[in-house]
Amino acid sequence: MNTVKAYCPFCQQPIELPESDVGQAVNCPSCQMKFTPKPVTGHGPDIDRVMAKYQRPHLSEQESIHNFARYFTVAAIGCGVIGLLFLISAFIESMTMNSWAAFAIIGGSFISVSIWLILVAQVIHIRANTLK
Ligand SMILES: [Zn+2]
Repeated sequence: MNTVKAYCPFCQQPIELPESDVGQAVNCPSCQMKFTPKPVTGHGPDIDRVMAKYQRPHLSEQESIHNFARYFTVAAIGCGVIGLLFLISAFIESMTMNSWAAFAIIGGSFISVSIWLILVAQVIHIRANTLK
C-alpha cells in the first residue's frame, strides 16, 4: 500500500498514512488533536527536509548554526553596553575637562567590536538559511 507523509498542524508531529486516507480527519498520535492531513508535496529530499525541520527534540544542523550565531549577538550586546558606559563616562568627564579622550577611545573601540560581532552573526544566520 502506498503511504504519504504529512505533519500535524498543531504539534508538527510527522505522520505517515495510507494514500486512501488522505482527506479524512485523523487524530494526531502525539497531541490527539483532530485534523485533516495535507500530504507534503514535492520531491523526496524536500519532504525529508521539511520532516527534519519539524522533528523534535533533535536540532538540525541549520538550527545549531543559528544557535552558534546567537553567541555572537549576545557578545555584541555585551560589548555595546560596555562601549556605551565608557562613552557616557567620557561625556561626564568632558564636563570637568579631565582625561575624557581615553574613555571615548575605549568606548568607541567596544562599539566597533560590537558592530563587527553583529555583522558576523548576521552573516552566519544568512549562511545557515541558504544551507541545503
Ligand atoms: Zn499533533
